[in-house]
This record gives sequence, C-alpha cells and structure tokens, in this order.
Amino acid sequence: MNLTAPDNNATAVIWRCAVPTPLRRLFDYWPSEDCDGAIAPGVRVQIPFGSRSVTAIVLNQTTDSDIDAARLRRATSIIDTQPLFPQPLFELLKWAATYYQHPLGEVLPLGLSPGERRGKPEQQLDKSALMLSERGRGLPDGAPHQAPRQAALVRRLAAGPVSFKRLASEGFSRLLINALLSKDLAISCTVSEDSCWQLRAPPLQANQEQKDAIDAINAALERFSIHLLYGITGSGKTEVYLQSIATCLEKGRQVLVLLPEIALTPQTLARFEARFDAPVVALHSGIGDAARDRAWAAARSGKTAIILGTRSAVFVPLDKPGLIIVDEEHDAAFVQQDGLRYSARDVAIKRAQLENCPVILGSATPSLESWLNADRNRYQRHILSKRAGTSVPPTPRLIDIRGLELTAGLSPDLLNETERTLRGGNQVLLFLNRRGFANALVCHDCGWSSECRHCDARMTLHKSPPGLHCHHCGDRMTLPKRCPGCNSTRLLGTGLGTQQAETYLSERFADYPVIRVDSDTMSNRQAMPKLIEQLNNAEPVLLVGTQMLSKGHHFPHVTLVGIVDADALLFSPDFRGEERLLQLLTQVSGRAGRAEKPGSVLVQTRQPEHALIRDLYAPYHEQLATLLSYRAQSELPPYGALGVIRCDSKNRQAGLAFLQTIKEQVTPPSTCRIIGPLPAAMARRKDRYRSQLIVAGPSRPPLAALMASLVEQAEAARQSSNLGWSVDIDPYESL
Ligand code: ADP
Ligand code: ZN
Ligand code: ZN
Repeated sequence: MNLTAPDNNATAVIWRCAVPTPLRRLFDYWPSEDCDGAIAPGVRVQIPFGSRSVTAIVLNQTTDSDIDAARLRRATSIIDTQPLFPQPLFELLKWAATYYQHPLGEVLPLGLSPGERRGKPEQQLDKSALMLSERGRGLPDGAPHQAPRQAALVRRLAAGPVSFKRLASEGFSRLLINALLSKDLAISCTVSEDSCWQLRAPPLQANQEQKDAIDAINAALERFSIHLLYGITGSGKTEVYLQSIATCLEKGRQVLVLLPEIALTPQTLARFEARFDAPVVALHSGIGDAARDRAWAAARSGKTAIILGTRSAVFVPLDKPGLIIVDEEHDAAFVQQDGLRYSARDVAIKRAQLENCPVILGSATPSLESWLNADRNRYQRHILSKRAGTSVPPTPRLIDIRGLELTAGLSPDLLNETERTLRGGNQVLLFLNRRGFANALVCHDCGWSSECRHCDARMTLHKSPPGLHCHHCGDRMTLPKRCPGCNSTRLLGTGLGTQQAETYLSERFADYPVIRVDSDTMSNRQAMPKLIEQLNNAEPVLLVGTQMLSKGHHFPHVTLVGIVDADALLFSPDFRGEERLLQLLTQVSGRAGRAEKPGSVLVQTRQPEHALIRDLYAPYHEQLATLLSYRAQSELPPYGALGVIRCDSKNRQAGLAFLQTIKEQVTPPSTCRIIGPLPAAMARRKDRYRSQLIVAGPSRPPLAALMASLVEQAEAARQSSNLGWSVDIDPYESL
C-alpha cells in the first residue's frame, strides 16, 4: 500500500534504515525535516530509536512500509551530503552481512571510523594543494593570454595537483593563486604533491622465482585475480610484495596490506617505509580514535598510498585500490571470533573481486583452503622454493625423549646444543607453547587440582608474580600453601611453562641473557621493539617463548631453534589441530638461520612414529597433501561447508533446550546434517554455559540456506534475557 505522510497528502518517501542493533531487520522512518528530497543510499542519518538517538544508515528509499503510517517516526537529521562508503565497499559490507548472516545494522559501521559511527561529520583534510577546476582544464592552450603568469600556473597544474608549499618554492605567488581561484580556474584540494610517492631505496635484484611471481602479478594489475604466493620462510615474499606495490603506485592506485599483527612486527612497517617515500598509514589496535578518524578520511580521499592494517582494516574505505595483500594468509588472527564472525582473508578476496583488482595471499604455510583452490586453478600459485640471498634452510633433527632424564623439560642433547650455540656467539630460540610456570597445580597426596571456579579448565601456575591464573576468564587466586582438599603441603606444578624454563635456564646459562617472550612479558608496546633491537646486536641471547615467536620475525642471529614439546600440540580436539601444528612447527623452524649463518632445528617428542612428526621436515606442501586427503575422507572443509549456531546461557540446560527447539522447527535437505545440540569443547567459561548446533553440508549454498532457516527460528524463538546466541559461518574456533 502507498502511504501518505502524516502532515500532507502527497505520496511520500520513506527511508529504510540499517540501525546498529542485533535485530535482523531494517527500520522505516519519515525523512527528516532538513531534507528537501532524495537521499543517496549509504548516507548517515540521526534517528530516534526507542528512547535513544542513534546514527543509522539509509539503505534505500521506498514509498511502502509494513508499519502503519501513523506509527512511523521521523528521522532527526541528515549527517552526510554524500555516502561515506565508496560503492564497492558498500557492496562488500552488504555481501558480508548476507554471507555471514549477521545483522546489516551491525556490519555497515565496520566501514566507518569510530567518530563516524557516532555521527561525527566526516573529518576534513587540510586543503593544502591546488588543482585545475573543470573550467581551468577546458582552457585553450596558453590561456589566459592576457595574463602570462596565470597561464604559466595553469600549465604547471595541467599534470595534476601541486601543494601550495611547492608552488611557493617555484615562485608562484599567493596573489597569483588567488587570481585563479577567484576566476574559478582552480580549486584547492587535499591531494598534494606530497602524496606522490618515490622510491627511497632501489628494489633488490629479484631472483628468477621472485621475478616470475612479480611479472604474473603485474600483468594482472588491472583486473581481479587471486595469487597464492607460497614461499618458504626467508624466500623473499616481502620483496615480491614491495615490487608489485611499486607498479601499483606508479599507476596512481592505493595498496591495502593486511597483516596478522602489526604491533608485534614493527620490522614490517619499517621495511615498507624504508622502500617507499609515500604516505603510509598503519592501522592496529594501538591507534586512538582521533587518529583512526583521520586515517579513514585520508584513505577514503586517496591521499594515503599504502594502508597497512590488521583484520578490521579490510573494511577501510579506499578511493582507488589497485592491489590487496594478505600476508601470512593462514594465520588464525585473520578470523574475528565475536560480533561479525568473519575471515579477513576471505573478505579481502571478495573485496578484490568487487574492486576489480588482484589480491595476493602470501604464506610459508598456506591454509588447506587456499592450497586446494590453487590445485583447482581458482588461484594462481607462485612458488618461492629457495631462501633469498645466501641463507641456507635449517637441518632438522628429532630427539626422541622417551625414557630420557629431562631437566625442566629439556633433554641433555638440547641443553648441550644450546650451550654450544651460545658459546659460539649465536642466539638460541626455545619454543614452548605454554606461558606461565606450570600448566596446573596438583596435590601429590589426594589428586586435587587447581580448577577454575568459573570455567571447565585448570588455572595456570605463575611464579612472578606468584599466583594461579585462569587463561580463559582472567580470574586470579593467591597460591595456596596447603591443599584445599586434604591440607597436604605437597603441591606440585605439572606441565612445563615458559616461566619455569626461564627460571632454570637463567641459572644454567647465567653468563648469557635469558629472555622470556610471551604475552605476559610482551604486553607493553615497547617490549617487542626493544627486544628486536637487542637481537639485532649480534650478541648471544637465549630466548624462551610461545608461538608469539613464530610470527614473521626476522632474527638474523638465531641459529638454533629448539621445539621443547612438539606433542603438546598433537592431540587437539579441533579438526584444524594437525594443520595448525604443522604450520606452527614449520614457521618456528623457519626462524633459524635466516641470514648468512646456517641454522639447525631440534624437535623433542615422545611420538616419533606419528605421521606428522615423522614427516615433519618433508616439504610443507607434501604434508598438506596428506592432510587434504584426511579432510576429504571426513568431508570437512575445504571439502564440505560448516556452520555453527552457538549459544551461551547462565543456566546449564537453557542453551541446549533453546537449540533443540530451533532444530526441531527446520527440515534439513538430505545433503545436510545438523549435529547437536552439544556442549562446546569447554562447556563452562566465565560462568556461562556454552552449547552449539553444528551444521554440515556438501557445499556452501545448501548450508547457507539451512543456516538461514535456523537463524530465522532463533530470531522468532522466545528467549530469556540470560541467553545469547550467534551465527558462525566457516567456523574457525574449535567445535
Ligand atoms: P619472507 O617474507 O619470504 O620470509 P623476506 O622477504 O623477509 O622473506 O626475505 C628474507 C631476507 O632475504 C630479507 O633479508 C630480504 O632482504 C632478503 N632478500 C629477499 N629477496 C632478495 C633478493 N632478491 N636478493 C637478495 N636478498 C633478498
Ligand atoms: Zn590434597
Ligand atoms: Zn576461568
């Protein structure tokens, strides 16, 4: 039915708005009184919502509403004159809401800066440059003839904008500039000549494999294509990125580079800045809101040439993107686990398609998903099989520790090798996948263990400062002197953690600095840069750390890597467990011998016969083939598709009952299965009970349809305020 506005009789326009709420629907409003007519999709408006005033985004205009005209409310005001989303980004956000089945009102703000989400007007960039107006560009050669200086300035501007500073240095006076401005021949603008880029350092001489990759990417720069760059650690992937970026900048396009972590890898940013004299911005969790607002505006205007960011930067507005790079594409850090649950890698691929530009996925340990896509020729695969420069890959060796006498978890072999390396003036990295002192505190007499009061997990023993910490909910307890169960004093730590190894190693290698690297010691922003500086001095150092050490660092003087407990990673309930183990071990081993010095890798295990350990140093892609065949047999991704409805509730039964209800409302197609409801792997966390429905299908379309009907039922189901649920498409978290 057509509606009439409450205050006049003409057929009236209605704004259909996306509102930031978890409700999966759009909301209709009468246009605000400051609006004189049409509004473009994507424009922000201020609206009354319940008793609040919120910033919403107009999706489209309509003349129809399901809501009774008399009950429609009026929007308060319009915020933007034009949408802040470039069209491809707007499409991307809408795609993400549909694909991940998340409310559009919560997805669209991901493309806005923090201030913009709160309704602040778009940040104005300084207008520091001059460019020709349309009128100025239309002038005949040599005009205006009666004013030769003005004509010279017009000629100067013909090639593009020039900053006021540069014009002044070239002798063009302010008076002259004002003359062009007042004649409407020129306008001031934000794009300055400073945003033109230059090479600060020449590119390295690429080897043949690098050259092949660079040529293939450069040949594809004007259209959508997906490139999987599989290069062993130290093979020079970054050089391939840098040279592709240079070509892209030459074409006047922007580059978006996604990294799993920036704060921990200041080296990466430094390498970009060392190569390019160009406006580079780094977006990560450490940047404040004001800086983010500015960065957003600069990226949107095209002023920033290179944007480096962590996963959320995949939604940064770009004026003229020409290339997207996802470095360490296999990394779990690209997966967002709450709110909109998305994979920034997968979104980046969709974005490249919408922007019509290439995307490079780089890794020494590609994910099974990407590898299979390359096998199926959906991605172009480029291989860097050799280390760049003169460095040589490490020679690995397994140490079977069954029956051996261990000290703080370390075998005599590993200790001797550590000692030899330090004596030789080199650096050692011992990798232990567990922070804290010990896994748990247990009573030798009655078997009591340090269980968390809020989670189905044990609290970890920490020595400095002393106490028990739950790594899942953050709860802390003072260290009991006696067993709470039987009052015995014989309480022992079980399972080796980084603190314990550090304590022992500091005594044993008292002549050398022993440095622990985990999220406890690296929480300070300055810690990692300081550590890297210390490691760049070619002094002997012994590092003991968690997987944090596996992330893309370049440690030129590390020549020995010891993997203290490979088995700890082996028995994981997660279907990606083996893939992650393989990636982690390959990445960690890749830290050895990165520069001129040869490296070695020692792996301690009690499972030398296990296929993954036994073949650990077969080339990564050979092991991938084995893992892919397992996944094919069990119809798990990348062969099948998965989705999960997760639920958490105060009450143990309520979540399971809720999921059971919605499951009973839908009839799955014969190709799909609904598994559950089941308690999650860690059923209780932070005092909330977690349960899930797992949906498996042969491919994405039938799975998506089934998930959509489950979501619809969940929306409709009556639920208590103590129950929350969420949708996870292509889940990454353990099931
Ligand atoms: P990756 O990112 O694949 O781990 P990097 O790009 O960090 O590898 O390269 C490892 C080292 O090799 C760096 O020190 C880099 O400067 C050097 N390197 C890369 N390409 C070349 C090349 N073509 N010639 C000489 N050195 C190179
Ligand atoms: Zn006891
Ligand atoms: Zn806990």
